[in-house]
Amino acid sequence: MILHSQASILIVGAGPVGLCAGVRLLQDGLQVRILDSGVRGAGWASGGMLAPLYEMAADPACPDAYLQFAMESAALWLELAKAGDIALQSPTLFLARGDGECHALEKLAIRAAAHGLEVRSANVPKALNAMAAFEAPNERALEPRAALKCLSTLFQSLGGEFVQGQAQKIGPNWVELTSGTKLEFDRIILANGFGAARLADSVPITSALRPVKGQMLRVAHADLSSPILRAGRLYFLSRQGSLVIGATSDPLALADTTVDVDPILVLLAEAKALLPSVARAPVVEAWAGLRPATPDSRPLVGATSQAGVFLATGTYRNGWLLAPAIGSYISQLISGRTLDQDLTSLLAPMRFSS
Ligand SMILES: Cc1cc2nc3c(=O)[nH]c(=O)nc-3n(C[C@H](O)[C@H](O)[C@H](O)COP(=O)(O)OP(=O)(O)OC[C@H]3O[C@@H](n4cnc5c(N)ncnc54)[C@H](O)[C@@H]3O)c2cc1C
Repeated sequence: MILHSQASILIVGAGPVGLCAGVRLLQDGLQVRILDSGVRGAGWASGGMLAPLYEMAADPACPDAYLQFAMESAALWLELAKAGDIALQSPTLFLARGDGECHALEKLAIRAAAHGLEVRSANVPKALNAMAAFEAPNERALEPRAALKCLSTLFQSLGGEFVQGQAQKIGPNWVELTSGTKLEFDRIILANGFGAARLADSVPITSALRPVKGQMLRVAHADLSSPILRAGRLYFLSRQGSLVIGATSDPLALADTTVDVDPILVLLAEAKALLPSVARAPVVEAWAGLRPATPDSRPLVGATSQAGVFLATGTYRNGWLLAPAIGSYISQLISGRTLDQDLTSLLAPMRFSS
């Protein structure tokens, strides 16, 4: 069904996905409001890396259509960053700490070349205990908290409006808030990260979501020679005199955002082994977030069993990377435009209906 330009659209959630979708829908001439609870989501807690090489191309089992989607999203970020005045950091220095990681880096370089993703040889910086390195100029990162503000400003400058409140029930074309207010819209897009799972009584397919808790910390430290460093699951992001260290990943943790001693200690020990100067760095803050994961680690984007209600969540470790492509995809979907069939079957939420 073709959506007329006067149709009303409500996005639930002002994280990276909701904001990027909101901006895209407005750019495509539709009218959009975003409802947000004001509770910090995973986007705020994230590293903000835009890393299709590490996240998708490195995986031989990644479907081509999904890798393509991620690479398109990384390209869309260049335009969006310009429009929203969002600073992007690059390059990423990939490091190997032992023989196993050297072998993995060699394989990664081959896969990068196969997908046209540039990598170039690099020296290991003196401060680091690593054996080999290469640099990927197009693996980028943004500062998530600043980017959320910039995207909110861009959304409003395009005519978008925010509504403060928490959705507690969803029905065909309506949302009920915890305040009791009921809002009616032609289309509703649930883009509220793991929060969507808490609406499973109304939209049962969201029970496919699983929380994967991630914890990170920031220490005061001089910027490193490369703004983004990766060694296995460990990464350092240099951010104006501080070093963000990420990230733990615990699929068995409770769905809360407490900072827990053990995982942080393990992360710090790994960080110190790679960069010994971390041992003397003052801790500035630590935080946690819940990655919205799905059984196949791919997002849930598409229609649900509720009339007029769509999902745009399940982005797991890649919500920032994928947000612009999800915005573009959802805009095409709700406008009734033709979509790539391979992609539709990879992303359709109802793939998990039993
Ligand atoms: C430690 C960590 C590191 C990560 N690193 C990266 C990375 O480097 N790169 C990357 O791409 N991704 C990363 N991710 C994943 C990424 O953060 C998530 O995939 C992404 O934030 C999901 O975006 P979202 O907009 O769907 O949800 P969120 O960012 O969780 O935002 C949801 C929003 O919805 C609102 N909300 C929730 N429920 C309701 C409700 N019922 N009513 C109204 N509003 C509601 C919340 O207040 C929030 O503002 C990381 C995640 C974690 C936890």
